[in-house]
Amino acid sequence: MAKSYDIIIIGSGPSGYTAAIYAARANLSVLMLQGYQVGGQLMLTSDVENYPGFEEGILGPSMMEKFEAQARRFGTEMISEDVISVDFSPRPFTITTDSGEYLARAIIISTGASAKWLGLPSEQRLQGRGVSACATCDGFFFKNKDVAVIGGGDTAMEEATFLTRYANHVTVIHRRDTLRASKIMQDRAFKNPKISFIWNTEVTEVLGEHEVTGLQLHNVMTNEESILPVQGFFLAIGHEPNTELFKGILEMDNVGYIVPVEHTMTNIPGVFAAGDVTDHRYRQAVTAAGDGCRAAIDAERWLESLGED
Ligand code: NAP
Repeated sequence: MAKSYDIIIIGSGPSGYTAAIYAARANLSVLMLQGYQVGGQLMLTSDVENYPGFEEGILGPSMMEKFEAQARRFGTEMISEDVISVDFSPRPFTITTDSGEYLARAIIISTGASAKWLGLPSEQRLQGRGVSACATCDGFFFKNKDVAVIGGGDTAMEEATFLTRYANHVTVIHRRDTLRASKIMQDRAFKNPKISFIWNTEVTEVLGEHEVTGLQLHNVMTNEESILPVQGFFLAIGHEPNTELFKGILEMDNVGYIVPVEHTMTNIPGVFAAGDVTDHRYRQAVTAAGDGCRAAIDAERWLESLGED
């Protein structure tokens, strides 16, 4: 028979672990389905220096180990498997993974989002060694260096502008000759003397053995090949919320982020969502953790309001 819990948390980033800590401390039985890739996006980050409480900074994976240990301490059960399907129609809700079915009185979804990558092997190999998808997280490490940002949207403009605080120079590489970014963000970037643009160009290789030394570029109009020497390469080609499982079930915006309808509760009463899966604006570990806390408190109060045993 399927094992039953008060709350099942799907996902194991800062929002999921924080929700687990709050829910378990509220004496609820909690199962976290962590996914096969435990820890979420922070597992791809090197030093985290902007999460309060770690005055010397902490490596992303070490920070997630601490989150997990704290959640375990209060009795959260954890299974490192992906969820295959969900059934939110009857209560208790049913979640299916490779190992079987699990039942829950309430659900907290914290499946996060994933940065889009170009898909180059060299980009993957040099992640954390000059390749990053988060200027806020990693910009600090590029003081007085030359860096490039790929993308033509608001994120690319925002990240390029942010990086000029540290970098010697920032080159924005875009595949077309017009930006998708809003006018105000474009103007800000155009006016910044530390930012220059390379148009109609794709990055076909990230160069460097142990750290980034440059980018191989291909001009899509002229077919010209060139090399741009840089020490940092920031991807800003968008994020994708990890919401495939919930399509057609939960209310989402036009790009697939879950839209909570009452605080952190989704359109299905008893199903809550927290962290990057609902947020394309802040996307920070600390905001996700705060959101996980809110979802756990909302779930706890909602369960209490049912007046069930
Ligand atoms: P986005 O608007 O989808 O822009 C992605 C950019 O990356 C586009 O310029 C796209 O090129 C390019 N791109 C996509 N795939 C690529 C690939 N494989 N190779 C090369 N280039 C590629 O994403 P975003 O900039 O992350 O913004 C997401 C949402 O958040 C938007 O609604 C944005 O307005 C919002 N946002 C707002 C703010 C703010 O207001 N402060 C800040 C950040 C984000 P094409 O243009 O050719 O498609």
